[in-house]
Amino acid sequence: MNRPALSAVFLSLTLVWGCQSVDTTQGGTVGVDRQQYMAVSAQEVEAGAKKAYAQMMAEAQKKNALDRDAAMVARVRAITQKLIPQTATFRPDAAKWEWEVHVISIDEVNAWCMPGGKMAMYTGLIQKLNATDEEIAAVMGHEIAHALREHSREQISRQMGTQMAVGLAGALLGIGDLGQSLAGAVADVTLNLPKSRTAEQEADRIGVELAARAGYDPRAAIGLWEKMGKLAGGNQPPKFLSTHPSHEDRINDLREYSAKVMPLYQQATAKR
Ligand SMILES: [Zn+2]
Repeated sequence: MNRPALSAVFLSLTLVWGCQSVDTTQGGTVGVDRQQYMAVSAQEVEAGAKKAYAQMMAEAQKKNALDRDAAMVARVRAITQKLIPQTATFRPDAAKWEWEVHVISIDEVNAWCMPGGKMAMYTGLIQKLNATDEEIAAVMGHEIAHALREHSREQISRQMGTQMAVGLAGALLGIGDLGQSLAGAVADVTLNLPKSRTAEQEADRIGVELAARAGYDPRAAIGLWEKMGKLAGGNQPPKFLSTHPSHEDRINDLREYSAKVMPLYQQATAKR
């Protein structure tokens, strides 16, 4: 067996047996605390995200759908720029991430943040929800929270358990391209697969804290999900809801946790 094939085998074996328990974030005021099991490294997932993001942005550019509306781009960037420094509460290393945000002209209610801070906001979300700055901050805070908690890495780790036999066979034949398949997996998790109820609740709670600390009224998250809910019954239900399934006690949980972080919001706005 040649050297690259051998190292691919070792990599796969590490993935099979190297499942480790990690703490991705610190609790913050909202106190999110849950051990997570990862079968793939953050570095590998981030590299996959980088690749997938670059491909998707190039595709958007080709379709003339990338950052078309300068005012909207400036607005989304200004909001995310206020949220990003707040991530230090949950994980100091996030300050060193290569954060990036683009506005894509797609008539779909969607927004996301890939591992490592690669974000997208779709024009459809802003337009169809007629979103306020606070509501945009609520969406992006929620998305950033998924990235901080490395929910995609966790989801991919879970999938790998079932797909490993296939991957290992591929590696033995020297045809496994882990980088490409991880990029594909990140894109799939970001755009298509529903997140768990636990992941949603964590992102909601961390999201309201990020928004509050950035000086956005955290209670806007409640109105945001209510607006999403109203669109859900229409003929074009928000794509966002398919990847972020709503749970019935979401609104109650958001009420409780946005109240908990109100002092942070008051402190942030008093400084102005
Ligand atoms: Zn979510």
